[in-house]
Order: sequence, then C-alpha cells, then structure tokens
Amino acid sequence: MSKKTIQDIDVTGKKVLVRCDFNVPQDENGNITDTRRIVGALPTIKYLLEHNAKVILCSHLGRPKGEVNPKFSLEPVQKELSKELGIEVKLASDIIGESAKTLTSNMKEGEVVLLENVRFDKREEENDKEFSKELASLAEIYVNDAFGTAHRAHASTAGVSEFLPAVSGFLIEKELKFLGDALNNPERPFVAILGGKKVSDKIMVINNLLEKVDTLIIGGGMAYTFLKAQGMNIGTSVCEDDKIELAKELLKKAEEKNVKLILPEDVVIANAFDENAESKVVKANEIEDGWMGMDIGPATISKCKEVLQNAKTIMWNGPMGVFEMSKFACGTNEIAKILASLDATTVIGGGDSASAVEKAGVSDKITHISTGGGASLEFLEGKVLPGIDCLEDK
Ligand code: AMP
Repeated sequence: MSKKTIQDIDVTGKKVLVRCDFNVPQDENGNITDTRRIVGALPTIKYLLEHNAKVILCSHLGRPKGEVNPKFSLEPVQKELSKELGIEVKLASDIIGESAKTLTSNMKEGEVVLLENVRFDKREEENDKEFSKELASLAEIYVNDAFGTAHRAHASTAGVSEFLPAVSGFLIEKELKFLGDALNNPERPFVAILGGKKVSDKIMVINNLLEKVDTLIIGGGMAYTFLKAQGMNIGTSVCEDDKIELAKELLKKAEEKNVKLILPEDVVIANAFDENAESKVVKANEIEDGWMGMDIGPATISKCKEVLQNAKTIMWNGPMGVFEMSKFACGTNEIAKILASLDATTVIGGGDSASAVEKAGVSDKITHISTGGGASLEFLEGKVLPGIDCLEDK
C-alpha cells in the first residue's frame, strides 16, 4: 500500500511538524563532518516553504539517553540549515517546553523552527502518549522524513501520528519506491547479494529474500557458515556453529524455491586477521587449518559478474570481505564497480555496502542507496516499520 506524501495534502498556512534525520557525524569540537543528512532533508523543507507552510523540524542526534546534554544539541544543525536555506532557522531550547511553545505559536508562513534533540526527553524513546500529544499539539500536520529511524516506534517517529494527519516526506517516499519496488515488484531476473560478518544478523533477510529473488549471492564472513554446512573445512574463518543447521535449512529452502544460490568458489585466505598477514587465493574447499577466509576470490568475482550482467534488479547488503583492510577489499570493490556498470536497477541497503560504493567512487551510478542501515534491513526482512505504517494510505 503506498503512503500519502506532502504532495497529497494542502499544507498552505499550516504548521507542519517534520521528523528529520539530522543525526550527523561530528568531530570532537562539535563541527559537522558530513552534511549529507541535512542536504538530504532540504527538498522536503523547501517544498513546504514554497507552499507557504510554517515548518517545525525535529530530530534526534546521538544518544543522550533521555537527558539534556549540550554535547548533543542541534545547534550546529541549526547553523548549517540556516546557511543552506538562506533564512534564519530558530532553535528552541527545549522540545515541548516554553521555548518550543513560544517560538511555534506565532510563526508566519515560510518560517522554520527547529526543536531541540527529541532524545533529551526519555519519553521520546518510550513512545509516551502524553509526550506525543504535547509534541503533536505544536502543529497541524505531521511529516515523517527520517527513514533511518522508521524502524523505531518512538514519539516523534510514530506516536505523534495518533494526533495529527500523517504523511511522508520526499526521502521516505523515495526509499519506499526503490526498496519497496525492488522487493515486491522487481523487474526480473532479480538478484540479491548479501555479505557482512554474521549469518545470525541476516537470517530473516535471507529467509524473506528466498521468497522473492531468482538468484542469491552470499559472500563475506557469513558465507563460511554455509560452506561448513556443506561439509567444507573452513580453517579459522568466522563461523557460527550454532547456525549450521539453519544454514542447511536455508540451502534446502533455496533448492525448493528454485533460487540459484551462489557461494564463494574461491577465497582469499590469510594466516591472521591482519592487513599484513600472509595471504593467498585457494578454492573454497581447500582452506587449510590455521587460515581464515578474508575475501571472495577472482573466480567468484567472475561468476558474480556473469550472473549480475543478466540481472534487471539487484539488491546489495553487506561487504564481500574484510573491506576495511585494503588487501581484502578487492571483492567488495569489484562488486561495487560491476553494479555501477550495469543497465539495471541497483539498490544498496545502507551501511557498509554504501560506504563501499562511495570508496569505489561509483555512488552516482547506483540507482538508490538507502539512508537507513537498520531500517532497510528490517524492510528487507519483510517487517512493517512503525514510522511508515503510521502514515496515511493513499
Ligand atoms: P555487517 O555489519 O554484518 O554487514 O558486517 C560488516 C563487517 O563484516 C565488516 O566490518 C567486515 O569487515 C566484516 N566481514 C566481511 N567479511 C568478513 C570475513 N570474511 N571475515 C570476517 N569479517 C568479515
């Protein structure tokens, strides 16, 4: 079911509370080191301003754990936003207190007020009803545009929707379009690539994707639990022994569902978890004792390329190896470059794979890079995200 967006309602003259994701990285002096989350929020804010709304912004920043802590103040965000918008954004010194009430009560059309960090009040994460009601009372319409926290049922991400008409902003609309279409209405062949360290983190994702994809490529540390489940010696590679039975079940499910499952056929192994360790390429079934798999090998990369070249939709989550060490980043980089070269819909599920495409310098050649690591994983698991579920259906 698609959700209403800010384009589906009349915002003229209305006070609109927008939940943004201003959880920006900062250096030790509080300077913002990457403004992309702020820049990403601008289209929604500008649309509202152009349509004569009174814009009230809110967000969390860091983990102040329900207490006021100047270290996590949104002041640096206020300054950056004022610069980007070319108007003065006023910062309330609280969330639902005197300052917020005073600043929002006499707003004119085209004005912007930013509330202080919503996590300065512990009732935010508790999704407290009274807190949600007070927050909602500042505005007449609620817009959620923070995909990164849409998997959390907090007051500002879901609770307020009980008291206000609730719609999505452009960022969430885009996430739903690309993640949702890829998952539920993909142009086929649909190939998913999963990597990362642990199988246990992605069991639900694998399970859900096996219902949807034509081919599933499994790389990264999690591949070794599958290789061991197939009876191979994996040396000292990462492995979750308590998940071997489950890996067997997933292998069986893939067969039953006619999903082609690709596991590494060769791997780069090392004699220590170290950039300077001795390393070599071996067949996946020839890992020696005392050696660990650190990356997929060249034959596996070629195999992936062959499969990916025919794909029309590709979803990627998780690195193919220990990509933080340049010696073992080749598999991850190559997958990023292959994706960038294809005439297909390519969707990256945030986190490490997003930084991998960036590192490879090919972000602009990817159809969609999700802004929410945890949220996009839960989306791929087929879960209903509270911050999206609470928005009005079209
Ligand atoms: P995740 O957060 O589950 O997506 O996992 C990402 C992490 O998996 C990265 O820090 C990688 O270094 C790690 N990783 C990928 N491949 C391997 C591997 N073969 N052995 C150990 N760690 C790995």
